[in-house]
Amino acid sequence: MQYMFDEVADSPSAEQEFQRLDNSLIMRGSALIALSLGVILTIVAFYIIDKHSESQYGIFGLLLAASTFSAFLMAAFALYLFKCQPQNRNLLYIGAILLTLSWVASALLVNTLWHEPEAAKRIMLIGFFIILLGWHTNLILLTIALSMILCSYWLIGTKAQNMSYLDQILSIVKFPLFIVIFYFTVRKLLSESKAKYIENIKLLKKLNDTLHIDELTQINNRKGFNRNLANSLQTAKRLKATLTLVILDIDYFKQYNDNLGHPQGDQCLKQFSAVLSDNCKRAVDSVSRIGGEEFAFILTGSDTEQACAFIDKLQRKMAEKAIIHPQSEVSEFVTFSAGIGQYDEATDDQESLYQKADRALYKAKEAGRNQ
Ligand code: GH3
Ligand code: MG
Ligand code: MG
Repeated sequence: MQYMFDEVADSPSAEQEFQRLDNSLIMRGSALIALSLGVILTIVAFYIIDKHSESQYGIFGLLLAASTFSAFLMAAFALYLFKCQPQNRNLLYIGAILLTLSWVASALLVNTLWHEPEAAKRIMLIGFFIILLGWHTNLILLTIALSMILCSYWLIGTKAQNMSYLDQILSIVKFPLFIVIFYFTVRKLLSESKAKYIENIKLLKKLNDTLHIDELTQINNRKGFNRNLANSLQTAKRLKATLTLVILDIDYFKQYNDNLGHPQGDQCLKQFSAVLSDNCKRAVDSVSRIGGEEFAFILTGSDTEQACAFIDKLQRKMAEKAIIHPQSEVSEFVTFSAGIGQYDEATDDQESLYQKADRALYKAKEAGRNQ
């Protein structure tokens, strides 16, 4: 689950994600069309080998077969190139046109050699359905391919004998009618699922964010802290940068709660964390609430001395805020103690760095708090 959320958070935008899915659907569709065409071409090839010597159109048929086959190969190559560089849409359209051309040519081939327009029309019909199935996600591909199929269907259809004019018109008109009805039904379903898909990815990202945010203070929670610390340690290691972890703990907070009540305690935590986040503006730094009244700063690029100066500044800011504490033994206002751990690339990991800062915090508490 964790892995899934992180993957979603790291993934490109939902639109890009959809584009990637769209491309892979087109490639799968193209593979289906090419495969089916391969079967048809094999059948036609057997026919040519068997019959071409008897046919008066033998040479013409062979030429047509050769161009069909080379168009097929070029289509496969163009689609392969598109797969490698999906941003180049022209390759896709060239591949689609060549693939459809070889389909149309194979039907014409059968019409020429077999003298059987019905068989040729059947090939067109199979092509029509396969293309509809393969490229249904892309309006432009569908328009290019199906109009080519329609034109050649008409070409073969008008040559058919024993067919009345009305028959011819109806047999052609049923195609566009079918396309319009089928296409808009599929399109509607698709656009709905696309919207749903994008919405789901956005929701997942949002959920991923909320998983790492503390509800009360709206800063990172413990989970967010762990994630940030792991990332920051990696960055510090790679850039050979210094890094300090600062843990802050409000002094005598139990007494604060006991005196003023839990809701007032919550308000105090909110005010306290607002002071912290107002003073954590560098992009490389982060602040988190890691426990009840415990907070942590990850300061990338800062050493112990700079972290000390930073904490002094925070103490001044808190003093300016002057939140009354009725029962603190160190001040009349809310104060905090802090511990600093500086990251040592050679010996430290997440856990040991945390313990370093925690031990320092313990010492500050022992030494009288508010320091
Ligand atoms: P010390 O100076 O040694 O840190 O003493 P302390 O009283 O601050 O520390 P202790 O660990 O004894 O008590 C922490 C208190 O913080 C106890 C708990 O009720 C309170 N607390 C923890 N989470 C919350 C919260 O979300 N809201 C409120 N209001 N109080 C909380
Ligand atoms: Mg504590
Ligand atoms: Mg405390």
